[in-house]
Amino acid sequence: MQTEAKAIELFVQDGTPAGVWYCPKCKRVGGDLEMVEQCCEPIICSVEGCENTCKKHWTVCEECRIRRSQERCNSVWNKAALIELSDAQHLLCPEDGDRLVCHDTAITMAEEDGVTRFYDTSETPLRLHADAILEHAVDDWYEDAYSELVLAGAVESLQKVLDSWCEENPHSCWFEDNARKVDLSSHAQEDNGVG
Ligand SMILES: [Zn+2]
Ligand SMILES: [Zn+2]
Repeated sequence: MQTEAKAIELFVQDGTPAGVWYCPKCKRVGGDLEMVEQCCEPIICSVEGCENTCKKHWTVCEECRIRRSQERCNSVWNKAALIELSDAQHLLCPEDGDRLVCHDTAITMAEEDGVTRFYDTSETPLRLHADAILEHAVDDWYEDAYSELVLAGAVESLQKVLDSWCEENPHSCWFEDNARKVDLSSHAQEDNGVG
């Protein structure tokens, strides 16, 4: 009944089944017949209608994974509200490794490379947290060191200093805002094949 690459049941010397199976192809032994039977079988993609084989440890083939991720990107893009370029802060380009670009660069990218999809970003100003700084600073002191600093009002007084420093030294990071998109298709040249 067993074909050449199928699992073979192993027996102990007196003829009683050992309860383990052996794959003649990769020499793996295991107590779960189903697993040993499939250890060397190609894994077929679990996406309905797809018959591609998957890489080891995957249940979905590469083609389907790329397609699904493209579908996810498209659905986020389709749901986003369209805004004018002038209403956007910095722009983030998902087609170019989430690169942060200014308005002029975005227009150049659309004109020269046909890259037309951008998301707006929202500004997150730098904020320093006194509790984290103090907790870290006394990490290897004695056990109640940090609690004592808290009781002594150190967190509050340091936070005031930090807040005023941040106000005088503004720094920001711009994070992608997936809910707002800028479509620069109108800047792309027609022969770039942007559809
Ligand atoms: Zn095997
Ligand atoms: Zn597939």
